Amino acid sequence: MSEKTFPLSKRDLEGLSAQYPTPFYVYDEKAIRAHARRFMKAFSRFPNFREYYAVKACPNPYILKILASEGIGADCSSLPELILSERAGIEGENIMFSSNETPESEYVYANLKGAVINLDDITHIDYLEKSLGAFPELISFRYNPGPLREGGNSIIGKPEEAKYGLTRDQLFDAYAKSRDKGAKRFALHTMVASNELNPQFFVDTAKMLFELCVELKDRLGIRIEFVDLGGGIGIPYRPGQVAVDYDFVADGIERAYRELITPEGLDPLGISFECGRPFTGPYGWLVTRAIHEKHIYRDYVGVDASMADLMRPGMYGAYHHVSVAGKENAPATKTYDVVGSLCENCDKFAVQRELPEIERGDFVIVHDAGAHGRAMGFNYNAKLRAGELLLREDGTIVEIRRRETIDDYFATIDFKKLPGFKA
Ligand SMILES: *Cc1c(COP(=O)(O)O)cnc(C)c1O
Repeated sequence: MSEKTFPLSKRDLEGLSAQYPTPFYVYDEKAIRAHARRFMKAFSRFPNFREYYAVKACPNPYILKILASEGIGADCSSLPELILSERAGIEGENIMFSSNETPESEYVYANLKGAVINLDDITHIDYLEKSLGAFPELISFRYNPGPLREGGNSIIGKPEEAKYGLTRDQLFDAYAKSRDKGAKRFALHTMVASNELNPQFFVDTAKMLFELCVELKDRLGIRIEFVDLGGGIGIPYRPGQVAVDYDFVADGIERAYRELITPEGLDPLGISFECGRPFTGPYGWLVTRAIHEKHIYRDYVGVDASMADLMRPGMYGAYHHVSVAGKENAPATKTYDVVGSLCENCDKFAVQRELPEIERGDFVIVHDAGAHGRAMGFNYNAKLRAGELLLREDGTIVEIRRRETIDDYFATIDFKKLPGFKA
């Protein structure tokens, strides 16, 4: 069972908020490192094991740098993400470029930097060749098993309804075609789940890819250098849920490897993941303050953050645990909707949630916000996004992204050209 903790006390927050007004994000470096080590230890038994952190989950170079120092690479899907990874010191084949609907210029940059290019469609073979003027030596394809695979949820959907990847038949044509174009090294990728908590799911994904490796060898004589199981490892957002057991996953993958890969002479086959969520999700919190309460047909607590800072509850109806600093052990005697200030009724961090009585000025902590949190922020209603703080291992706090200002919001508008404008 996951226990919902927060590394700072109410007193800490009072001091901190004098310097950094709420709302802000806090990430816990020690906890991020401890998890990364646990993950890498469980899977290090596999040849050339790699984890490419999905940059989109928390695109902050300070966080990427911490992960890089634990031996973790980057999974990117846009030019700015490639540049961000580079600035965090992640380079070459430590970058997986798992993009989709990719513009030419981004393929050119990814190739220039020596990233592993993972194609999302068979037509992208010609597109890539034309973009680069030549075909790369190393190429990866993303497989979408469609109806051949159960799974999916409201985040990623059923495989056959998902826009990603190549069908099974296309995959064989794609490897043959890319070999004809001069590719010499091949990787195979899939991502068929999101926020999945069943560890067996990832073992089954590995089996699916291992079987494909054997078939690619038998039918085309193509040897896959590594398989990438994608992201999708879930986290226990709800207190009663259980985190994915990495040793269970690694043991299951190892058994499948011995059964399917070793006897076929395909050992060593590299294994990789590109998880985002479990690496930072549980180790980041959105800290807000209650500024209003109202009682109509329901009881509401209004906080100074909004869905523009964390859209998961509004977008997917996702559960995020909420606690109140200093009232961690107080009885949950009230039922509240905890809401933000957007002019959208889905701007609710918690709906009909049992919580201790909340007073104005209380710090309301939204848990498990370290992945797909600040990253998904937006500026609707001219909301200015929260900044990010890092709690370092020595207990000190550094600001790793300041909060947005009105000038940031106006930065893309040239007011001097506005008729009648006076500065
Ligand atoms: C979003 C995404 C990931 C990371 O997903 P998590 O759920 O954060 O682990 C990895 N790979 C691809 C291609 C993605 O789109």
